[in-house]
Amino acid sequence: MSDDGAESPTTVCPFCAVGCRLTHDGVRVRGREGPANPNGRLCRKGVRAFDAVDDERLTEPLVRRDGRLVPASWETALDRVVDGFEDVMDDQGADALAFLGAPHCTNEENYLLQKLARTLGTNNVDNRARLCHAETARTLADRLGYPASTNALADLRETDVLVVAGANPAARHPVAFDSAVRPAVTDGATLVHVDPHENETTRLADRHVAPRPGTDALVATVLCSLVVGNGDVDRAFVRERTTGFERFRASLRDPDVDAVAATAGVDPGTLRSVAATVGDADRVAVLTGTGVDETATADALLGLLLLTGNLGRPGTGVHVLRGLSNEQGATDAGCVPDRLPGHRPVDDDAARERLRAEWGVAPPATPGDTEHDLVSAFGDEVRAALVVGENPAVAKRDADRVARRLDALDLLVVTELSRSETTAHADVVLPAAAGVEKAGTTTNLDRQVQRLRPVADPPGEARPDFAVLRDLGRRLVGDAFDHATPRAAFAELTRVAPTYADLSYDALGERSRRWPARGDDADDPGDGILYAESFATDDGRAPFVPLDPEGTVDDGERDGLRLVVGDRAGGFVADGDASDCRLTVHPDDAAVRSLDDGDAVAVVNDAATVETTARVSTAVRPGVVYLHADAADPLVRGGETTVAVRPAEAPPCRGSVHGDPDGGRP
Ligand code: SF4
Repeated sequence: MSDDGAESPTTVCPFCAVGCRLTHDGVRVRGREGPANPNGRLCRKGVRAFDAVDDERLTEPLVRRDGRLVPASWETALDRVVDGFEDVMDDQGADALAFLGAPHCTNEENYLLQKLARTLGTNNVDNRARLCHAETARTLADRLGYPASTNALADLRETDVLVVAGANPAARHPVAFDSAVRPAVTDGATLVHVDPHENETTRLADRHVAPRPGTDALVATVLCSLVVGNGDVDRAFVRERTTGFERFRASLRDPDVDAVAATAGVDPGTLRSVAATVGDADRVAVLTGTGVDETATADALLGLLLLTGNLGRPGTGVHVLRGLSNEQGATDAGCVPDRLPGHRPVDDDAARERLRAEWGVAPPATPGDTEHDLVSAFGDEVRAALVVGENPAVAKRDADRVARRLDALDLLVVTELSRSETTAHADVVLPAAAGVEKAGTTTNLDRQVQRLRPVADPPGEARPDFAVLRDLGRRLVGDAFDHATPRAAFAELTRVAPTYADLSYDALGERSRRWPARGDDADDPGDGILYAESFATDDGRAPFVPLDPEGTVDDGERDGLRLVVGDRAGGFVADGDASDCRLTVHPDDAAVRSLDDGDAVAVVNDAATVETTARVSTAVRPGVVYLHADAADPLVRGGETTVAVRPAEAPPCRGSVHGDPDGGRP
């Protein structure tokens, strides 16, 4: 490598779905000009992209013997996996297998994982990314065609009004925020921030709407009502490109804005003003985060855009602010139980035929089970599992119960960088390469596919998941897994997934291309705007759905507080900023609990107790507390949303409940 790193291979930052390019010059991480970071800038998380890579890595396969994990050769470890899987299939069939992929693995790895599952005869394959942004993704897929951002982030420069809902991109996607959102606002766009938590994004906002938890859908629905009442419906767009408008309009009824505002705890004047601003604007875009966690909210936000004709043009549309580095690509590649590569349903005959022609066998036509259901069935209907870079032992559910489920399997195989809560239960542990040690591609939050080149070597005998999955496929299935390189697997993905047609490693080069691509012109970055002519639905139109939000307001138990969970992109561990795991509590709630800023607090509910530090601030409303997802996860197992907060004795900031934030293998 040259001194300035100019000739170093480049890869993609593993810490969030923005997808900034970087390299390592042998001494430090350096940003490199890329489609997501055109100035070569990295945020403070990105510059630490190699820090976790060195942490106590696994360097050789481990196989359980006499109750202990002991070193073994790759040959021995893979034999154990193959024998175990074949025994389970012989006894109970392929549906007794489970395959759990990862939103930080490459497109090629996720493609091979789902191919392995499906060529063995089961659709029991899933990845955690499907759970993130689930409501928005499902709404987009069902009503427009694809579970993906409709527009390129770069064209926010043409937006008049940006509605950021349930997200804090200023902190979680800082490079995208500074290169797309901030310039738009500087150029005169109006930023509306809808979030119960006042945060870094709010500082740039013209209007902040902070609905009580549980009332987001009610607020979004009343905005639709006001737009209709103001006569700001784009009638030509509604007539030519949508269906179901009359039923939608009837569902809105005559809104009592003051009553809705009182229920949601927001200013009615602000609601009227936001509706008027949206209705008057030529171009409106919505950016959604994990705070949009109800289908009714996603439906209403999409309804707002359909009403006003804000889809299919520059500066409009829905931007899904995905968190983990390859969330989009894992789903694109088909690592989900109900969709084949290219987002086709598992019972789509044409898609199954494409796969049969490529694989020699068609995938099953009935959906598999989700990760949640698969883990629940471990030891019962499911007897063996391959877990690629995931850590279900610290998932949002009862850790003891999950541990018992993992132990009940006949065979648990885990590929990982280092020992984790899940490897402790494994029968075979395979040492994996980190993202910066891999070749392949990932797809960022606005559908840009980029190549990764290894910028470091894996330690010891660690291998990329691609090599492990290919070798298991060769042994368990045969010639269909003769992919010498990730390039070959990607070429196959482009043949079976229409969304990836016309993409190729050669055309990607050092740049990126968006799906869907148009031809093989390497200078064409791909289609930044989906649905310019028609939607990818059966009739080419987008259906309205009637809105009927219940507007439930639960202020919790008498001494309880509603917990708002921050999103996960990057996370405080990667960030290294201990202050990010503080509990934000309103001064009124702090006073009745005798808490001062900086005090140690215990956050308690039936699921867990998390000890952290109080941040007393009006950034949250009374009755609501805010905690980052990595610290809050144990508290929200099983869907609990209420917590008690009381003084604690010791002042830890890192939650004492779990050690691995599972925020994404670097
Ligand atoms: S964490 Fe996200 S915004 Fe920061 S450098 Fe990495 S990809 Fe870019």
